[in-house]
Amino acid sequence: MPLGVLLAQAQAGAGADRIYRNARITTMDRDTPAGQAVAVGSGRILAVGNDDTVAGLAGSGTEIIDLDGLTMLPGLVDGHGHVANAGLYHGFVNLQPSPAGPGNSIGAIQESLRTHREHDGLFDDWLLGAGYDESLLAEHRHVTRDDLDAVAQDVPIFVWHVSGHFGAANSLALRLAGIDSATDDPPGGIIRRRAGTREPDGVVEEHGLYLFRDCMPNFDGDRLLDLLDRAQESYARWGITTAQDGASSADEVALLQRAAAADRLDLDIVAYPMVLDPAELYGLTAPEGYSNALRIGGAKLVLDGSPQGKTAWMSEPYLSPPEGWPEDYVGYPLLEDEVVDALVDGLYARGWQVLAHCNGDRSGDQFLDAVEKATAKYGLADRRPVMIHAQTVREDQLDRMQRLGVMPSFFVAHTFYWGDWHRDAVFGPDRAHRISPTQSALDRKMAFTIHNDSPVVPSDSWRLLWSAVNRETRSGQVLGPDQRIDVPTALHAMTLDGAFQHFEEADKGSITPGKRADLVVLSDDPASLPHDLLKDIVVVETIKDGRTIYRH
Ligand SMILES: [Zn+2]
Ligand SMILES: [Zn+2]
Repeated sequence: MPLGVLLAQAQAGAGADRIYRNARITTMDRDTPAGQAVAVGSGRILAVGNDDTVAGLAGSGTEIIDLDGLTMLPGLVDGHGHVANAGLYHGFVNLQPSPAGPGNSIGAIQESLRTHREHDGLFDDWLLGAGYDESLLAEHRHVTRDDLDAVAQDVPIFVWHVSGHFGAANSLALRLAGIDSATDDPPGGIIRRRAGTREPDGVVEEHGLYLFRDCMPNFDGDRLLDLLDRAQESYARWGITTAQDGASSADEVALLQRAAAADRLDLDIVAYPMVLDPAELYGLTAPEGYSNALRIGGAKLVLDGSPQGKTAWMSEPYLSPPEGWPEDYVGYPLLEDEVVDALVDGLYARGWQVLAHCNGDRSGDQFLDAVEKATAKYGLADRRPVMIHAQTVREDQLDRMQRLGVMPSFFVAHTFYWGDWHRDAVFGPDRAHRISPTQSALDRKMAFTIHNDSPVVPSDSWRLLWSAVNRETRSGQVLGPDQRIDVPTALHAMTLDGAFQHFEEADKGSITPGKRADLVVLSDDPASLPHDLLKDIVVVETIKDGRTIYRH
């Protein structure tokens, strides 16, 4: 509905639904960057201004909320993450390292699994954990079948790596998946072996994970809806009002559709089904507008692994290869060039937005080559393809992306979570210093977003903001000081550019009359807070379409 009609309705009727007053409002709108009060009606923003002018929209039915000097921002837009999977994580034994969980050593992981079995029991006869991170385990190695056999041999155990790109199984789970010394590595995947033998050591990489798909239990529908509620609550607690499901399986799309049909989506969710094979494009739902807060945004490709696990596909070798690999190991692609070309071509032909996971710069080349070919064929247009993670994207690649209209979404949270590991074990200082090169993108005036890739790390918006501004590692060192960005730039990436990346900038990303009333009220003003305290910001209230969905 046009703003004029909304305003006329509010003035003719009982006034605005709500007026928030006495606030420090950062609108992210260049025309009116700040304000004291905002009026909301029919789920939209009616007016922003000072307390006196906005008070003119009050009527007999208006709820007036005095924010007592608290800060208000537009609701945050998730740059990239997996909200359905974040829900599922709540159903697994949490094996993440601190501060997100107890998994700081293999002993602690074994203890967590044992305790869970004792107190919470099994899930469909399986013991399932998620979030172990070999880079932060005291032992600096993956969990193996032997470690898991020491927990239990009478039940199958499977634990997911924090990146989602590895998993480890005990002997019984390997047997149920039909994996033994006679099993060859699947295309795009690796079954790790005991040194010098073909006997699996329990760890599988990338497409090797799919070998467990048929034997592993699935949560039933109602349990999944409950878990999705928990993920939405945690997103709302971090001020996010639009979430991404950025690599949805068919099951996840079905779950989100079921949640939408049951009116259980508090957040707007944009889903990007993951495609591996061009033939799958024929079976996908075409992108469309929101229906009950759910929208299909396009499709997602995953082209390589993760740098912390040294499976990102690089153009130059890692500082040291993973055990058993030669010195010139550079990670590996997940899809052949021809497949990537055909997928991007198919998406361009349909006019659907394409997101591509590229952690290593070599996979970035693979993606940009495909985009270049599709652009030559279909012409340059406003398609907003996104390079997801773009952690090791090179300067020449940023130039090429700018020319081809490809947006980066940077995984800036890595600077904290794995920054020390990247510098000391993965990339060496030079490459580590420019992971997620936000300032390089800013220098080119490129639109970009930043993300947590939840559930890889918690969807904590303030840890993310703090990381983008400080780039401080766990050990307190600054990783790439010249790639730090200021608070307004980081907030822009979390609001307006997030909306832009999802083609929703006309409706979201700033507190502008006519846009959706997606708002977040904060304990402190990020713009005036000392930079080291940004991670301690607390969300007081999150408002979606004019309705409170979270209150502290
Ligand atoms: Zn990814
Ligand atoms: Zn992801």
